[in-house]
Amino acid sequence: MLTKTPFTTKEKLEEIASVYPTPFHLYDEAGIRKNCENLYKAFSWNKGFREYFAVKATPNPFLMNILQEYGCGCDCSSMTELMLSKATGACGDAIMFSSNDTPPEEFKFANELGAIINLDDFTHIEVLEKTLGKLPEKLCCRYNPGGVFKISNAIMDNPGDAKYGMTTEQLFDAFAILKEKGVKEFGIHSFLASNTITNAYYPTLARTLFEVAVELKDKLGVKISFINLSGGIGIPYRPDQQPNDIFEIANGVKREYDAILGANGMGDVAIYTELGRYMLAPYGALVTRAINCKHTHKEYIGVDACAVNLMRPAMYGAYHHITVMGKENEECDHLYDVTGSLCENNDKFAIDRWLPEIDMGDLLFIHDTGAHGFSMGYNYNGKLKSAEILLKTDGSFELIRRAETPEDYFSTFDCFPIYKKIFE
Ligand SMILES: *Cc1c(COP(=O)(O)O)cnc(C)c1O
Repeated sequence: MLTKTPFTTKEKLEEIASVYPTPFHLYDEAGIRKNCENLYKAFSWNKGFREYFAVKATPNPFLMNILQEYGCGCDCSSMTELMLSKATGACGDAIMFSSNDTPPEEFKFANELGAIINLDDFTHIEVLEKTLGKLPEKLCCRYNPGGVFKISNAIMDNPGDAKYGMTTEQLFDAFAILKEKGVKEFGIHSFLASNTITNAYYPTLARTLFEVAVELKDKLGVKISFINLSGGIGIPYRPDQQPNDIFEIANGVKREYDAILGANGMGDVAIYTELGRYMLAPYGALVTRAINCKHTHKEYIGVDACAVNLMRPAMYGAYHHITVMGKENEECDHLYDVTGSLCENNDKFAIDRWLPEIDMGDLLFIHDTGAHGFSMGYNYNGKLKSAEILLKTDGSFELIRRAETPEDYFSTFDCFPIYKKIFE
């Protein structure tokens, strides 16, 4: 039987839960460090390589600081992500601002921090110039070649249907105009497929971007200093999926780099990545307790977490593997729906899942929630967001975000008389 192994034990989870009650998101420091080290090792052939962690995936300063130890920058797309990145100590070209439908004041703040601005749209050239008075010397443009993104004959995603980026024609126009307006250094950015589990995604994307880069340099005489392959490297959420091999991915990018950029006198171009999921998803878990069982037309296990703590199953029908702690070796001979308590029938962490028999009080370890987990949370039904806890390399644990309280939930009423009544 295919399975996934939790990064900690039932005893450790009970120890943590005795201090910080369930539900909570738990992160594995050792796993985060090892993975980050490997990413940098794999791309060490490229002198300027840098990962800009996609802050939206897990906006927690403690985790961001760990990634920063390895040289990671921050990829932001909103005002608060910029504010958070600044607070973690990131500044200048350690911040990349890749936003779309951007309010001008966010361009202004990004520029004040010295961030590299990535223009999502042709019309933003004018907005940026008006907002800043003068364009920065270094700028990046986001490219969307349209059509479908294919590897061999498999369609990976549908960029032609995505709201992001400029067309090929717009990209060339933008570079020409920006050069004329005094921009000296350029970057190209593109994100064409999400959660890919094939080692061919980055190399295929890289080839497209490298070819465009050579053409831009030849036609317009612009200096391209970096190419940002953005996010999109996936993780095996299902136990039967093969994990990506970052060394093979990086070697594939190197092959294209040497053949296209190297061969055209562009061997000094830096490669940037902007990974979120790949950096943290496997190193986080939602830990929750079974508190109800219900037998009607189906067998339901109710837990103390809900879609507010992890939205992906409800939103995309995403699969998250579940381990019933302490029952790892028992037979999965019970068919359950594992549900949260929202008044929404899609609030299910698993549907028709074979699991060992679950007793009330059992701890469930919902795997791979380290990215796009906590961060997608919301407050429907007045449900509160959970704590985040770091399981450290030495086995100790630390609270890295406290759980929300009713005071937090009602805090936007605090200027009204009703606020006091709520707590009377
Ligand atoms: C979401 C996002 C990422 C990260 O995506 P992952 O799938 O988590 O790797 C990177 N760049 C941009 C611009 C994004 O919007």
